[in-house]
Amino acid sequence: MAGEFELIERLRQATRQPREDVRLDIGDDAAVLAMPPGHELVAALDTMVEGTHFLPGTAPDALGWKLLATNLSDLAAMGAQPAWAMLGLTLPRADAAWIDGFARGFAQLAARYRLALVGGDTTGGPLAMSVAIHGFVPAGAAITRHGAQVGDVVFVTGTLGDGAAGLSCARALRQDAHAQLLLERMRRPTPRVEAGLALRGVAHACIDVSDGLVQDLGHICAASGVGAELDAAALPLSPALCASFDDAAARRFALAGGDDYELCFCVPAACADSVPVLLAECGGATRIGRIVAGTGVRVRDTDGAWLKPARLGWDHFAP
Ligand code: ADP
Ligand code: MG
Repeated sequence: MAGEFELIERLRQATRQPREDVRLDIGDDAAVLAMPPGHELVAALDTMVEGTHFLPGTAPDALGWKLLATNLSDLAAMGAQPAWAMLGLTLPRADAAWIDGFARGFAQLAARYRLALVGGDTTGGPLAMSVAIHGFVPAGAAITRHGAQVGDVVFVTGTLGDGAAGLSCARALRQDAHAQLLLERMRRPTPRVEAGLALRGVAHACIDVSDGLVQDLGHICAASGVGAELDAAALPLSPALCASFDDAAARRFALAGGDDYELCFCVPAACADSVPVLLAECGGATRIGRIVAGTGVRVRDTDGAWLKPARLGWDHFAP
């Protein structure tokens, strides 16, 4: 059994990322961080709780990766450049091997963005973890949920539905090669940081798809005072998803499943043709619908009829 301070030291060693804007990091009462001139701070926090966000027994390196990935995804949706993170850990035991695994997964993803772990808090209790992440945008350049305009084209990066399909495969104990790919997408999602940066000055509005496409695009619609129409036939589906589920189930995962961490965004029609080229190196982008006058999200099914999805997303406090 390790002590609290040994755990923190192991985390510090494993995640070290030299940055000159970090004046003081782990080891004092608080971190001291220097903002680049002319920029605004973009801050977000995401939590994962055992049994709610991940299955008991999930490998610690997958947790370290995913916790950071969900946070990076929020910065990506704002078009922010990641810089610093703070980590809140609640652990049932002071387990050095667990910490080493967690730190390895966290550090793998952090290194891609030179993201520094600059502080946090460590307590005993049921397994839960939070990251508060900080990044920058040039002043005024953050992409928000409230800028969508009637006539905008709706896009999504990458492919949709793999995360939720992966969870379904995990529950069904499916082990085949396609299921493995879906499980990997669920455990180690790719945050679309580069896509978010490329969309600054291009997208009117953006959100990351964490709770399901229809629900998350609904947040853009509510914030922007508009409606949206989606074409189910246009949804980008991965080969692994199509091979593992029938077409209707695959599209249901893509519309209402969570855990994709792709970006859904709205661009003026005049620059829609340039978007797939702009994002070719950052996961690609697919046109899936349009912004219309009105409220809410409507989905045109593959047969042309309007779909009424019973369950449109994930709400922790839904009855
Ligand atoms: P304090 O008692 O002053 O709040 P702590 O003893 O909790 O300080 O933490 C000591 C140092 O270790 C602080 O700099 C804190 O930011 C850092 N720290 C604690 N837990 C973590 C963690 N899980 N990840 C990163 N840094 C941590
Ligand atoms: Mg203190």
